[in-house]
Amino acid sequence: FAPWSDPAAVPLIRFEGVTKRFGEAVAVDDLTLSVYEREFFCLLGPSGCGKSTLMRMLAGFEEPTAGRVTLDGRDLAGVPPYRRPVNMMFQSYALFPHMSVEDNIAYGLKQERLPRGEIAARVAEMLRLVKLEPMARRRPDQLSGGQRQRVALARALAKRPRVLLLDEPLGALDKKLREETQFELIDLQERLGTTFVVVTHDQEEAMTMAHRIAVMDHGRIVQVATPGEIYEQPRTRFIAEFVGDVNILEGEVAGRTEAGLWMIRSPLSSEPLVIDDPDESLATGTRVAVAVRPEKIRLHETPPAAATANVLAGEVWDIGYLGDWTVYRIRLPSGELIRLSRANASRFVEQPVGWEDRVHVSFAPDAGVILTA
Ligand code: ATP
Repeated sequence: FAPWSDPAAVPLIRFEGVTKRFGEAVAVDDLTLSVYEREFFCLLGPSGCGKSTLMRMLAGFEEPTAGRVTLDGRDLAGVPPYRRPVNMMFQSYALFPHMSVEDNIAYGLKQERLPRGEIAARVAEMLRLVKLEPMARRRPDQLSGGQRQRVALARALAKRPRVLLLDEPLGALDKKLREETQFELIDLQERLGTTFVVVTHDQEEAMTMAHRIAVMDHGRIVQVATPGEIYEQPRTRFIAEFVGDVNILEGEVAGRTEAGLWMIRSPLSSEPLVIDDPDESLATGTRVAVAVRPEKIRLHETPPAAATANVLAGEVWDIGYLGDWTVYRIRLPSGELIRLSRANASRFVEQPVGWEDRVHVSFAPDAGVILTA
C-alpha cells in the first residue's frame, strides 16, 4: 500500500499553501500536504507546532487564512463541519454522561434523521466492531478508560465518514492499554478502509500505527515519509532527535574517500569519520551533524581490528538494563556521552563490560546519516 509513490494517484485530501494566523501568531505556515484514500496518516510534532489547527481546518472548525483545503478535489471553503464527510474524535471523547453507550453511538445518526431500523443496525454493527456489545446499556461512568475510548471511536465511525480525525486518541490511556489499543486501531482501520488522520506527539505511537508520518515543527512540515524512512533517513537534526534515540556527532566535511564515502572531520576522533550517505552535494568545509542510532553502534571489549571504521575510545559511564535491551553510555575523553544499545536476545545475557571499563565503540559507514539542517 503506497499510493503516495504513484505519480498518477489522486489524493483524497489536499492542503495547498495553507496558512492559519491567530492575530500575530502563525499556527500553520504555508503548508502543502496530500493524504490518500485508505491511508493511516499521523501528524507528529511537539506541543504547539500546529497539528490540531491543521485538523480543525480539515474538519471545518477553522477556516484557513490563506490557501485551500480540498477533499476529492472539491474546495471545502465555506462548507460547514456537519456537511463534510469528515468526523473528529476528540481527546476528551466528549461522551454524553447521561446517555447509554448505544444512545451515545446513535446520537449523530438520529440528528441526521436516518430511519430507525438503519440506526439500530448501525449501532449494532459499531458495538460489534469495537467489541462492546455487552456494555450497550451502560453509562460512560460505568466503563473503563479503554472502553470509553472505544465508545467515542464507535460514535465517530457510525456516520461512516470518509475521513476520521483522531486528536491524541490514546492520550488518556495507560501505557499497556495504549499499546494494545494501537493494534486495535490498525486492525479497525484496515478492515473499514476509512482514511484515518491521527494527531499525536508520541513518536512510538506514530511509528507503530501510521502508513506515513508528517513531522511538524513551527507550523510547517519538515518531513513526510514512512516510519522506516523517518527513522533511518531523518531529513533534519530536529527529526533525528524527535523520533527515537540518537547520537549526534558534530563535524565538518573534509572530502571523499576513493570509494565515495564522505569524510567528516570531528573533534571526537583523530581519524576522520567515514559515512556512506547518498547526498552528493556536500561542499568541503560544510558544518554537519552525523546522526547514529544507539542500536547501530558496536561495543568492543578489546581494541577493534585496524581496518574498523569510525572507532572512538572511551570508558563505560553507566549501564541501564531494560530487560529487552541494555543501554550503555560511553564517555569519550572530550566528556561527550555516546549511547549504544544491545538487544538481550538470550535469557542468559552477561554484561560484556562493567562501569569504568576502558572500551572502544565503532559504527559502520552506512550506520551514519549526515545532516546539514
Ligand atoms: P498540542 O499538541 O499542545 O495540542 P498543537 O501542535 O496541536 O499542540 P495547535 O493547537 O495547533 O498546536 O496550536 C498551534 C499554535 O497556534 C500555538 O502556538 C497556539 O497557541 C496557537 N493557537 C491555536 N489556536 C489558537 C486560537 N484559537 N487563538 C490563538 N492562538 C491559537
